[in-house]
Order: sequence, then C-alpha cells, then structure tokens
Amino acid sequence: MADKTLICKDCSKEFVFTDGEQEFYKEKGLQNEPQRCPDCRKQKKAEFNRNRFQR
Ligand SMILES: [Zn+2]
Repeated sequence: MADKTLICKDCSKEFVFTDGEQEFYKEKGLQNEPQRCPDCRKQKKAEFNRNRFQR
C-alpha cells in the first residue's frame, strides 16, 4: 500500500493517510478513511472529553 493524501473535512488542509495507518484501519475493520487531519482529530477529541466531563 502507498501513502494517500486526503483533504481534511474541517480545515480543508491536505494530510497524509500513511501506509501504516491504512493497515491499522484495515485491521480494525474500518471501511471509512479518516475525514480529518490529525490536528483536527485531536481537537475534536479534546472537545468531546471537555463536553463529557462538563455538566
Ligand atoms: Zn484539519
């Protein structure tokens, strides 16, 4: 497999879906490619956690 360049849904920046990550996704049985770059993913996760712990 080769590295793939994808466009982030949030910031529209290009990011690389690496060979290793593709392998990881396949192992997990995930059909979808990542929609967001690592930065946005991190941000989303932080947001998610914040919402979860804040009531
Ligand atoms: Zn992004």
